[in-house]
Amino acid sequence: MKRLRALFAIALVASLLVVGLYWLRHRPQQIPTPFVTQGRLQVYVLDVGQGDSSLIITPEGKSVLIDAGPPQAADEVVAALRKRDVRSLDLAVATHPHADHIGGMRQVIENFGVKNFLDSGKKYPSKEYKRMLDDILEKGIKFIEAKKGMKFDLDSGVELEVLNPQGNEQWITEVRRGGSVENANSVVLRLSYGNFSMLFTGDAETETEDSMMRSGVTLRAQVLKVGHHGSRYATSARFLEAVAPEAAVISCGAGNKYGHPAEQTLARLQKAGVKIYRTDLNGDVAIVSDGNTFEIHPARQSIQIALAHKSTWRSLWSAVARNRFGSPLRYSNNDGKEPQCASCS
Ligand SMILES: [Zn+2]
Repeated sequence: MKRLRALFAIALVASLLVVGLYWLRHRPQQIPTPFVTQGRLQVYVLDVGQGDSSLIITPEGKSVLIDAGPPQAADEVVAALRKRDVRSLDLAVATHPHADHIGGMRQVIENFGVKNFLDSGKKYPSKEYKRMLDDILEKGIKFIEAKKGMKFDLDSGVELEVLNPQGNEQWITEVRRGGSVENANSVVLRLSYGNFSMLFTGDAETETEDSMMRSGVTLRAQVLKVGHHGSRYATSARFLEAVAPEAAVISCGAGNKYGHPAEQTLARLQKAGVKIYRTDLNGDVAIVSDGNTFEIHPARQSIQIALAHKSTWRSLWSAVARNRFGSPLRYSNNDGKEPQCASCS
């Protein structure tokens, strides 16, 4: 009888485990974590596949779009803005003129009123870029060429500062073999609100990072939007030391042909103790801050991703143990001291 009972208990535990795992694997993938946005600074790194697009909404409702994804994601970018009740953009930014960054921009301009447009100002001969400039001119949007030191006061305490290009036609002209001059001259922006700061690096190359470090601009930021989709030619160890981020967001497409993000970049971020979020795994990544603490809410969370992408127990465990996949996190940052994970206390 005792043996029978034990057997029954084992069978029960085993079946619960199977059902639990089945549920975890098959439950809906997109479950956005509810979080408070009212009166807070919101940043959304949008899942646009292989490309880049980030939306900033200030506590008082001003909005900035940094890049607009590849052409095939144009509808999604427009929908993402509508979903967050954006009616017009105070500022739209093209970090550089490559199609994976400006592909959806004309559709954004068409659907939303854009007041100001910030561009690297580096001439580029593509049809797509020319059409975008024509649209900007035709709509009478104020066109601004980015220059180090330029500051945009968005509203009460929210500031966006240009860290690159250097301005006055001082372009980076020497890049590694196979590198891109357009990438190297990306507009780099630092968003700050109270104790919170975030760096948007476009497709900056190592040369850009070194140039910014030499120029003496403030690079420190709690969140780093990783440069060039996590390419190995960006996010150097010395740059990471200068930025000292706690969390990083990589925008890249699942199974992209460039191999982004590079293992080397992921390793550098991990070595620096940075928590990593990826749009190819996490979907849209939301960052919210009240100017003192900040939270990160990915649309898809760690255990789901680990289960979907990792089949063996060993790899599943290592994915979770090594913190490879982002889950919601809360940070508090008081008195400029080392930020602490509030949800851990
Ligand atoms: Zn790119």
